[in-house]
Amino acid sequence: MDLIYLDNNATTRPADAVVEAMVESMRARWANPSSVHRFGQSARQSIDQARRKVADLIGCRPRELVFTGGGTESINLAIRGVLQSNPGRRVLVSSRLEHSAVRELCEHLEPDGVEIIWIACDDDGIVQPDRLDDLLRNRGDEVALVSLQWANNETGVINPVEQLATVCRRHGVLFHTDAVQWVGKMPTDIAPTAVDLLSCSAHKMHGPKGVGALYVRRGLRLTPQMIGGPHERSLRGGTEHVAGIVGMGVAAELAQGWLETDGPSRMAALRDDLERRLLERIDGAAVNGASAPRLWNTSSMAFAPLEAEAILLLLSERGLCASAGAACSSGSLDPSPVLLAMGVPPEQAHGSIRLSLSRETTESEVEAACEIVPAVVEKLRRSWIAAG
Ligand code: PLP
Repeated sequence: MDLIYLDNNATTRPADAVVEAMVESMRARWANPSSVHRFGQSARQSIDQARRKVADLIGCRPRELVFTGGGTESINLAIRGVLQSNPGRRVLVSSRLEHSAVRELCEHLEPDGVEIIWIACDDDGIVQPDRLDDLLRNRGDEVALVSLQWANNETGVINPVEQLATVCRRHGVLFHTDAVQWVGKMPTDIAPTAVDLLSCSAHKMHGPKGVGALYVRRGLRLTPQMIGGPHERSLRGGTEHVAGIVGMGVAAELAQGWLETDGPSRMAALRDDLERRLLERIDGAAVNGASAPRLWNTSSMAFAPLEAEAILLLLSERGLCASAGAACSSGSLDPSPVLLAMGVPPEQAHGSIRLSLSRETTESEVEAACEIVPAVVEKLRRSWIAAG
């Protein structure tokens, strides 16, 4: 059975050119990039080249990028690094819709005397700039950092990040965006915006897992979190993961090439087609965040009164890999805090799954999903009714 992979927000398949470049890096440029000899300098050059490619993708200077061990590490460096560099400001502003990498870090910092202000979103899951403006007008002097995602990993809903960053700049507050789901899928030109810090990750754009980058605007003071050497301009100690960084560079280059084609609009049409056909075929189905601007690849669909876990297991049996925006606890899936924060009723949130495309998703995969999902939902609904 050919598996259909519609779980691309979790991880995209590394592109062939990425794998080849990584293998070549490990075979031919395996030396320590800090070494002064020729082998070392060859590895150093491959890092420099990758840095230029990622910088081109997001529109910044290569020197403004720090390579990390992925999105979560970039986020930790941004948030903790700013807090430690600004001891006079003990307030963080974020949202309950953030990925756990941000949300749980904020919660973790609270016992250390950091106050977290969870800014509310509207019914579409968007943080409105006016609301942020009101908040910062009253509390701006105390706020060390505002951290808001560019696009949501469960629903694909897009925040107006450029406007949110402008509001922060006006109030003299630093702004970080978790752009892990955004970078590589949407064109990005960070330099003209007021964004101060941006986190991204290679495995969301057909690169390897365990490597990411943090954009740090020139001149911004940031306390390193990984101490132990002069690597990455002393912002991240430790010998670099050269092959991973090389893979991220190639992934960035490929993403940039693809963004210059009609790829994004073609894939958005495919995603819309998937949603339209599932809505037509499944009574009572709904798309979460449907009326908001969304990433071209993400679809969060609700099939009440079913449980997401049961849907996912049966989909997997029939060869369709999808996911739910929920944490697995004691054998059952809790409804997604993101959907609940958007005001999605608990019954609908419980029965929500995420189908996410990549630039490699084909029409025939979508075609097959349009057969499998309705059959699975119907079967489960019949057993649900039979169970009374
Ligand atoms: N932020 C978002 C929005 C994500 O989707 C993810 C991963 O799924 C992360 C952060 C964490 O990135 P990483 O897996 O590279 O640590």
